[in-house]
Amino acid sequence: MNRSTSAQLYEEALQHIVGGVNSPSRSFKAVGGGAPVFMKRAGGSRFWDEDGNEYIDYLAAYGPIITGHAHPHITAAITEAAQNGILYGTPTQLEIKLAKMLKEAIPSMDKVRFVNSGTEAVMTTIRVARAYTKRSKIVKFAGCYHGHSDLILVAAGSGPSTLGIPDSAGVPGSIAQEVITVPFNDLDSLRAALEKWGEDVAAVMVEPIVGNFGMVMPKAGFLEGLCKLAHDNGSLVIYDEVITAFRFHYGSTQTYAGLDNHEDITPDLTALGKIIGGGLPIGAYGGRKHVMEQVAPLGPAYQAGTMAGNPASISAGIACLEVLQGAGVYEEMERLAIRLTEGLQASADRHGIPLTINRIRGSFSTHFCAHPITNYEEAQDTDGEMFASFFRHMLDRGINLAPSKYEAWFLTTAHTDADIDATLEAAEASFQAMAA
Ligand code: PLP
Repeated sequence: MNRSTSAQLYEEALQHIVGGVNSPSRSFKAVGGGAPVFMKRAGGSRFWDEDGNEYIDYLAAYGPIITGHAHPHITAAITEAAQNGILYGTPTQLEIKLAKMLKEAIPSMDKVRFVNSGTEAVMTTIRVARAYTKRSKIVKFAGCYHGHSDLILVAAGSGPSTLGIPDSAGVPGSIAQEVITVPFNDLDSLRAALEKWGEDVAAVMVEPIVGNFGMVMPKAGFLEGLCKLAHDNGSLVIYDEVITAFRFHYGSTQTYAGLDNHEDITPDLTALGKIIGGGLPIGAYGGRKHVMEQVAPLGPAYQAGTMAGNPASISAGIACLEVLQGAGVYEEMERLAIRLTEGLQASADRHGIPLTINRIRGSFSTHFCAHPITNYEEAQDTDGEMFASFFRHMLDRGINLAPSKYEAWFLTTAHTDADIDATLEAAEASFQAMAA
């Protein structure tokens, strides 16, 4: 596959944009380096690059594009918003509509506030939890990524893990001391941490279903135990549902059937992003009324945003959720994901390549190893070189995956059986080449 234009553009980008990319996870550093693919156009499940090559996309822009690229309903909503003026700096009725949609789907959110990214949403939940509890420390789980604000870059997953930056430079040691990291799915470690630092712990923060060291389910009782331990300690529970909300069903993890008793796994604060903006920049956080009333202008915790709640992002978000309200959309994404994962597993097995797949409805992660993946340590202990080889073989056969062994594959409402057939054909050829 000729990608010479991408190579040229990368050289040019390197002259002007630091590292040639506007987010480190887009670089190919973790898969052997070289030029990332410069995409020119996207529609449905497909991408076309600057050299005219076509790809089936499973990146979905790291999650937000759950309805496929350029979905007509979302495009129409953005167009209408643009025609009506894109930024007001005043409240709008649209914001109320999206807030109500979120509240109906996620009952633990009595009050909502919109921001511009998942990072901002998470960062603010921490501030609010600290304001409410008048404590300063946060407990997080190793490998969970919660955006790039100072505090929670400590032991973060996906991007930072892939790049081998466990703690970012520029984060003062004093800040890192405010965060305690324990292994995911390990209540004993959480209990021990709370016994040691409990009086200072403002909140326990978690991706309730992990999306940042692969897709990893909480073990039975884990979220329930986490909530109980945190609440008994006087700490709040913050769910980072930036990836998971509206990913597996129309709602969030806290209302996802199949998990523990919902009452017992209800967080105090939830951070959202990605899907709820339909592909435009957005974040949101919300939670119990008396906790959220810490936020300015009602309370002493300050948070603001020039672009927050802008009509374009809000309109795209409403349109995206409307598509997801359609009958059977999650079932169809799951059906395709089952076909794809069963085919991938069979193909890898045929060629003697160790592969563990964690699938949750229409999303899954592929780990080159023979052991199960239930925490970050296990996800680290997988063959990165083999992933890099698979990634490159698939790319050369027109399949676009995230360039990191920790990132998920996302099915969208635009994927079809024909996409799955083509992907399995590419995977069979890739595994065959890798085994040779
Ligand atoms: N939280 C989680 C779970 C995420 O996966 C991400 C991004 O991947 C974020 C927060 C940060 O969101 P954003 O990139 O919109 O700032």
